[in-house]
Amino acid sequence: MPKIERVLIVGAGMAGLSLAIALKRQGLNPDIVERQAAWSVHGAGIYLVGNAMRALRSLNLFDQVLRQGSLIRTQTLLDDRGRKLATIDTESVWASCGPCVGIRRTALQSIMVEALGTAQLHFSTTVVALEQRENLVAVQFSNGTESLYDLVVGADGVRSSIRKLIFGDSQPRYCGQVGWRFLVSCPPSITGWTVFAGHRGVFLFIPVGGGQVYCYADAAIAQPLDDPLEGRLERLRSRFGSYASPVPEALAELQSSEQIHFGVIEDILQEPWGSGRVLLIGDAAHATSPNMASGAAMAFEDALVLSKLIVSERDVAQVLDEYTTQRITRIRWVHEQTHRRDQIRNLPPIIRNFMTRYLANSVYRANYSPLLAEL
Ligand SMILES: Cc1cc2nc3c(=O)[nH]c(=O)nc-3n(C[C@H](O)[C@H](O)[C@H](O)COP(=O)(O)OP(=O)(O)OC[C@H]3O[C@@H](n4cnc5c(N)ncnc54)[C@H](O)[C@@H]3O)c2cc1C
Repeated sequence: MPKIERVLIVGAGMAGLSLAIALKRQGLNPDIVERQAAWSVHGAGIYLVGNAMRALRSLNLFDQVLRQGSLIRTQTLLDDRGRKLATIDTESVWASCGPCVGIRRTALQSIMVEALGTAQLHFSTTVVALEQRENLVAVQFSNGTESLYDLVVGADGVRSSIRKLIFGDSQPRYCGQVGWRFLVSCPPSITGWTVFAGHRGVFLFIPVGGGQVYCYADAAIAQPLDDPLEGRLERLRSRFGSYASPVPEALAELQSSEQIHFGVIEDILQEPWGSGRVLLIGDAAHATSPNMASGAAMAFEDALVLSKLIVSERDVAQVLDEYTTQRITRIRWVHEQTHRRDQIRNLPPIIRNFMTRYLANSVYRANYSPLLAEL
């Protein structure tokens, strides 16, 4: 019998859901609490790089995701006037691992929810207090109930309240970027991941299947700004309307500001990830800016590694130690490379474009090659 049987997962995002699916496949039925009142997703689409798809294969979700998403074979980088800087053959870089895929976030979530099936999932519920006792954690929930667990997993995102309960006030860092995300119909000229890079801003298209494209636009801004709903569409059009076709056409298709999700970009690398019988995974432990599109891959990999350790008959202290040993190098690598890529992105366009022309392929390979290795 495993030494860890009663598991609480806090947060039903990609990390929490994938951990719950992996545990159920291995015969454990964790409790999950989710702060939201029902399933909801922000952010329109998502780009899954090869190691995310490899992890989804281990979760038995590969085929559905590939079917509902769009296979991405290349990444094309252009300047804001549409002049080509580089094309990266992503398919060959990831050949030994898994394909890259764009998919709507709602589609990915539905696939995961369906795979989870019936579960001890409690919406509109959060943790208000944790008490670590000798052989268990006593958890008080916002609905007034209390339960005992062998292990509590905080999978509650970059603003994690479990992190706060365990480690005090470790705030995420503003990355100097804000982003807008939405879905429109896919222009005929967009056949793969395609970015238009301007001065302190980019506009990215990723086909997501079903004739749609996920648009992600961002701006490098020193201080975090808010972009209220009122007038958001007009401001987005004015910020990116001078970019090359099909950016103006994509903006023209939008009908209201409600279609645009806006947010500031934050990161955090919490270390250590655990204390006693509480462990953080996913963005709660290690959020990055989206520059390497590796957040989902890291969350899925966290879940796979942790689920195997949970059922391995180790005690909790050994699980936390071994989990950290298996994950820390990869997570630190992704953080470091993401920071470097963010810095390159913010260089004056003339320098950045020159570097992109000559170095994009080798930098891409160098950034992602360590992630090809099996877990
Ligand atoms: C602009 C942007 C674009 C991105 N693009 C990509 C991309 O293309 N590819 C990629 O791989 N990654 C991308 N990412 C990163 C990716 O979205 C995250 O890494 C991933 O969603 C992390 O999943 P998570 O489950 O750890 O956290 P989250 O997705 O944040 O989920 C946390 C869950 O916990 C719930 N919750 C929060 N607090 C509590 C609480 N106190 N109690 C109970 N429940 C709680 C939340 O409601 C949520 O459901 C992007 C991120 C951003 C910001």
